[in-house]
Amino acid sequence: MQNSMSRSDFDRLMVPTYAPAAFVPERAEGSRLWDQQGKEYIDFAGGIAVNALGHAHPDLQQALMEQAAKLWHTGNGYTNAPILRLAQALTEATFADRVFFCNSGAEANEAALKLARKVAHDNVGEHKSGIVAFKNAFHGRTLFTVSAGGQPAYSKDFAPLPGAISHATYNDLASAAALIDDSTCAVIVEPVQGEGGVLPARQDFLQGLRELCDRHGAALIFDEVQTGVGRTGYLYAYQHYGVTPDILTTAKALGGGFPIGAMLTTDTLAAAMTVGTHGTTYGGNPLAGAVAGKVLSLINQPAMLDGVKQRNAWFAEGLQAMNQRLNVFSEVRGLGLLIGCVLNESWAGKAKLFNQAAAEQGLMVLIAGANVVRFAPALNISEQDVAEGLRRFERACEAVLQGSPS
Ligand SMILES: *Cc1c(COP(=O)(O)O)cnc(C)c1O
Repeated sequence: MQNSMSRSDFDRLMVPTYAPAAFVPERAEGSRLWDQQGKEYIDFAGGIAVNALGHAHPDLQQALMEQAAKLWHTGNGYTNAPILRLAQALTEATFADRVFFCNSGAEANEAALKLARKVAHDNVGEHKSGIVAFKNAFHGRTLFTVSAGGQPAYSKDFAPLPGAISHATYNDLASAAALIDDSTCAVIVEPVQGEGGVLPARQDFLQGLRELCDRHGAALIFDEVQTGVGRTGYLYAYQHYGVTPDILTTAKALGGGFPIGAMLTTDTLAAAMTVGTHGTTYGGNPLAGAVAGKVLSLINQPAMLDGVKQRNAWFAEGLQAMNQRLNVFSEVRGLGLLIGCVLNESWAGKAKLFNQAAAEQGLMVLIAGANVVRFAPALNISEQDVAEGLRRFERACEAVLQGSPS
């Protein structure tokens, strides 16, 4: 018999970088999940915007099993058909001509920033190294990406940090214009700041960044790690905004739960990354290629993408009605199925309490900073699961409200 492990073993065995929930998930199907005690949860967290087709989707299981029986890994001394098919699908569906595969969002952004530096150094010179990013942005946890991220709390303990990175204010074009000049090689921005509080960009802000990048010969990088693969009701959020980047990064939902990341770019920029300039052992392996190929083919369908917009309306209506009764949110914002409930002044800083109360009621949610409760459910979540999840969320909010705000 296998020895059973429990939540307390986490505190004994794991490097304490996380503080996981009190319950331990054991199995899941669609948007429902069960813990070790058999308690049922509705999943509005979606594995942090990853499980875009829910848990245990039969077609994804089949894609994984079929590939698992054939070929798992060869390394990049060889290529394979599943990853080439995925690259073809991604380039056909987007502005991009070329794809670099890796295993996570941070790695995709790392590749994007390295590409932008290499292109600028090759074409202009070493002085063209500046990277303009935004306050409250999140781009991952490698040293380069955490430095590009705009939350000093995540980077300051790891100094010295990579240089020539500056941070403007999100949705404030003038503050970006003040930092972008001919020494800028890249501007990196999330079309919706996810971890930073589910804050959508304004269209004129992204359009303005596009123009500034064109004027100064800088690459515009859209970090679509959280917004990509149908999350906003478009395959990629840049298609919603009508502003096309030079480099796009995607991960999270791309594998539907199987680790994969990708950097998409044009023929022109890609040419800088000649043989040997960058790489990763697992990137582009056939297992990830097979699963992500299936994910993309299921999500990049008009009915699926329209369904995301429909589901946004279910959430918006339910949350608005709930807030009329309880008055806890100052605003509900986001795009598609990336939704942020901004806590009002009485509850500011208390998002974690709502998360814990939700778990007690049988609902998994996310937070985005201390002031925002975030939902990033599966794109195919049923109307019944949305309704039941919102009922549980309302009970959780009521439970928090029983205690008094401090
Ligand atoms: C999650 C996230 C990342 C980091 O992705 P990892 O797979 O955790 O490395 C980067 N950018 C954005 C916008 C994200 O939401």
